[in-house]
Amino acid sequence: MKILFSAKPDVWDDYEAPLRRALDAAGLRYDLSRDHAPGDVDYIVFAPNGPVKDFTPYVNTRLVMGLWAGVETVVGNETLTQPLARMVDDGLTRGMVEWVVGHVMRHHLGLDAHIHGQDGEWRNDVYPPLAQDRPVTVLGLGELGSACGQALAGLGFPVTGWSRSPKRIDGLTCLSGADGLRDALTDAQIVVLLLPQTPATEDILNADTLALLAPGAVIVNPGRGPLIDDDALLAALDSGAVGAATLDVFRTEPLPRDHPYWAHPRVTVTPHIASTTRPETAAQVIAANIARGERGEPFLHLVDRTAGY
Ligand code: NDP
Repeated sequence: MKILFSAKPDVWDDYEAPLRRALDAAGLRYDLSRDHAPGDVDYIVFAPNGPVKDFTPYVNTRLVMGLWAGVETVVGNETLTQPLARMVDDGLTRGMVEWVVGHVMRHHLGLDAHIHGQDGEWRNDVYPPLAQDRPVTVLGLGELGSACGQALAGLGFPVTGWSRSPKRIDGLTCLSGADGLRDALTDAQIVVLLLPQTPATEDILNADTLALLAPGAVIVNPGRGPLIDDDALLAALDSGAVGAATLDVFRTEPLPRDHPYWAHPRVTVTPHIASTTRPETAAQVIAANIARGERGEPFLHLVDRTAGY
């Protein structure tokens, strides 16, 4: 069985050994390369910045497995007629939970006041609030949003989550649909965006939806840049309606040097590092999906092309 690894050369360097270990452990016989003849390839491990852009010649390929959780750059590729799986990786999820909890706690506890305000004055009139008094909303209750929501709920935050389909998740208030979005955002003090980028989620935070939040609310966006109407967010930050934003993802990446987010006093820019696929755990996910294919079982983590994620 032939596996084509189509990603940048440095990614291959990171993955080759873990992938061989995982495929061996799964008992698979394989030929793993970056240069098979297209018609021979059974499975493609794929990153959008790798060499394969046209899937037409891969006539015998049974599954294309993305290395990334987000699929917005490949889902519309008309040459891709093969099934597409996205990355669901425990290491990626754990990294995202740590990043989200860290940034939520920073804003919740007002850590900046002490980190940046150390001036010899002993101001002990403001105590850190309790999480139970800080409603947090997580937009998107998939692999990442549900894990982040549950971690925050575990710290005591009242967490409301929102998704396309109705859900029940222990410890979270789960809402869905247009009314659900309104309820999820109304009076929220911290909003975490973990939605995929699709036509239905673009600009989901806009002037109207930002106006529903509690005064001085905080936005934390590790989802995708186009989820936010940037002009509306900047206006809300300037007026103080939104108190702060931590943004990891942007419409244009790298974020242009002259973008107003860089210099805005209420904005923290992180360079799309909230989390990443971890080769050791991701290799096991890839091997498990190939093993399923070889046994004739349905693949896991398939993308719904119509929904776009
Ligand atoms: P999932 O597909 O598991 O979850 C997506 C969630 O969004 C689901 O709950 C889904 O609802 C919900 N959703 C999708 N469309 C809508 C809609 N129109 N209205 C309401 N809810 C909707 O994705 P992941 O959790 O794995 O990843 C989420 C995103 O995180 C990725 O798409 C990617 O953009 C981003 N990401 C960012 C990283 C970073 O480093 N910054 C790293 C990895 C991912 P339902 O459950 O009903 O399907």
